[in-house]
Amino acid sequence: PQRSDYFDKLRQRMVQHQLRNRGIADERVLQAMGTVPREEFVSKGAQGDAYEDCPLPIGFGQTISQPFTVACQCEALQLQANERVLEVGTGSGYAAAVLSHLAKEVYTVERVPKLATQARATLRRLGYANVHVFSTDGTLGLPAHSPFDGIVVTAGGSQLPQPFLEQLAMGGRIVMPIGEYLGSQMMYRFTKLPDELHVENLGGFAFVPLIGRYGWD
Ligand code: SAM
Repeated sequence: PQRSDYFDKLRQRMVQHQLRNRGIADERVLQAMGTVPREEFVSKGAQGDAYEDCPLPIGFGQTISQPFTVACQCEALQLQANERVLEVGTGSGYAAAVLSHLAKEVYTVERVPKLATQARATLRRLGYANVHVFSTDGTLGLPAHSPFDGIVVTAGGSQLPQPFLEQLAMGGRIVMPIGEYLGSQMMYRFTKLPDELHVENLGGFAFVPLIGRYGWD
């Protein structure tokens, strides 16, 4: 219990200093990030750094995104609770766990099979029953489980994959970083409206590359 009290304190401090003070305002996002035990999604050796203001390595050259980045993406999806969400880039499963508090069902896709297996085990152990983990090329979406009210991409792409548009419900949002291969992208929100695809630029971020049929080679 002492150990979990310790992480609880670090988590509440992270929510205040890294999220609230920097402009994250959606109370449901703040509540979710104040609940999900980020220390359970990193290796034992990195648990002490779980609430630091940075991404952390999860193996296979991949990372768990900085808490602020996860919060920005979740907030940008504008979730109310009843949505079906697709996440492309499961990684550790941490962001999927946060999304599971914000939406009804979360479908998440990871291209590295061992990361998918590990994330599935972590999410099951922690009891996140509304998260479904798949291992395939996420740039193809998950046609069998579409339509989605929200699609969030946690790796940087070169373009908006056509399958995402086809699998997005009317009124739905896609939140995705698009830009260079390494380290510099703009985060976009695409909203599907009856007569247009509304596009907003949410600012600069740095993600690992999105690799696949509609991503980088
Ligand atoms: N959301 C994750 C978390 O909470 O730990 C962090 C994701 S990490 C920044 C990006 C992930 O996207 C990596 O695990 C990478 O293997 C994965 N990825 C890259 N291209 C992909 C693709 N086409 N389909 C699915 N996953 C992909």
